[in-house]
Amino acid sequence: MKNDELLRRSLSAVWHPCTQMKNHETLPLIPIARGDGAWLVDFEGKRYLDAVSSWWVNLFGHGNARINAALKAQLDTLEHVILAGFTHEPVVELSERLSALTGLGHAFYGSDGASATEIALKMSFHFWRNSGQPDKTRFISLQNSYHGETVGALSVTDVALFKDTYAPLLRQSTQVPSPDWRLAEPGESAEAYAKRCAAALETHLSQHHAETAAFIVEPLVQGAAGMGMYHPAYLTEARRICDRYAVHLIADEIAVGFGRTGTMFACEQAGIRPDFICLSKGITGGYLPLSAVLTTDAVYAAFYDDDVTRGFLHSHSYNGNALACRAALATLDIFAEDGVIDANRRKAEQFDTLMTPLQHHPAIRHFRQKGMIWAFDVADTGPAFARRFYLAALKRGLLLRPIGTTVYFMPPYIITQDEMALTVENVLDILREMALS
Ligand SMILES: *Cc1c(COP(=O)(O)O)cnc(C)c1O
Repeated sequence: MKNDELLRRSLSAVWHPCTQMKNHETLPLIPIARGDGAWLVDFEGKRYLDAVSSWWVNLFGHGNARINAALKAQLDTLEHVILAGFTHEPVVELSERLSALTGLGHAFYGSDGASATEIALKMSFHFWRNSGQPDKTRFISLQNSYHGETVGALSVTDVALFKDTYAPLLRQSTQVPSPDWRLAEPGESAEAYAKRCAAALETHLSQHHAETAAFIVEPLVQGAAGMGMYHPAYLTEARRICDRYAVHLIADEIAVGFGRTGTMFACEQAGIRPDFICLSKGITGGYLPLSAVLTTDAVYAAFYDDDVTRGFLHSHSYNGNALACRAALATLDIFAEDGVIDANRRKAEQFDTLMTPLQHHPAIRHFRQKGMIWAFDVADTGPAFARRFYLAALKRGLLLRPIGTTVYFMPPYIITQDEMALTVENVLDILREMALS
């Protein structure tokens, strides 16, 4: 049988990500034959509803006809060309459109989220060096932040499970209090708590601005922290504080960009513009690896010089890959043609109604929603909750990957009301089966 055969071959040939491979002695590995909208289908026809958008990347479904068509046309024209000394239509058009959407300019490309983080950190440091402030070399981030797992990105990430082992390799960075409202005092509003955390940021920068290059932040939702959500007042304050102390604000919109929090970019909800924005994940609709960093004209100008070494000499082989840029353009076309941001707002309201039984469920704490993300924490779960829940969901044809005791839905935007209702019903069943209700 094809399923069994692929499973065996994968375990002997592929090193899977974020996985203790020995766990696959008991944990099933799921071979996927094809994708169909919000669904993944194995070789025996068993279907799984992809309620996590395949790790937060897929926006408009698997096998999307419009993205497929755009890619097929691009494939017959130009698949890739070196971007040093050469340019091409998809990369120019994508850069112009991202600039119009973000209010920032000169898109620099990488192939994944972590490389976007690296690019932003290096650019910020190099900007200060080019500006006669070589002591500004340090970075700060939020407690429980996640910015990727390459060595530089991991040094501003604050997830112990991913970071502790590699601590001796990493450059020290400072973490300031997270505005995640789950951490607020009882009775304290999300906004009051956000402002209290911003005051802590201000205290830190008032003492350390002279050696600090940038503050990197996941706007509105700290994804890997377990969908920790916070009030936009934090970002408004962070912008003011970074301006006051001449520290760059890097918005890591890798997970939250492209409509995930209800606006095209999360920073819009705080009325701010960052100095750098990092984009990836949804940028190609979940089709191809691509990331981009956009920055201000002032930052760009500080690199523009007769001296080669004042330039940004960073590169990746696949910088601005034409196929990936074409997938991104097709994704942006869908946003524009279908009025996706408005449509999602209406959809999220309908889905909120479906969630009511979860919201009032006795085992559930901190039910929360932002745009097309819903999350809640499960109380008194017993050991290995994430794994048990994941398996119970798979059995029901549902792909959900809890983070610790947090269950979240981050579906493709094309998910229907019926599919969402099915998801909620299954989750209620699982909680019942786990004797959590
Ligand atoms: C996923 C993610 C990254 C890293 O992106 P990769 O493509 O996995 O390297 C960085 N920051 C945030 C906020 C993310 O969610």
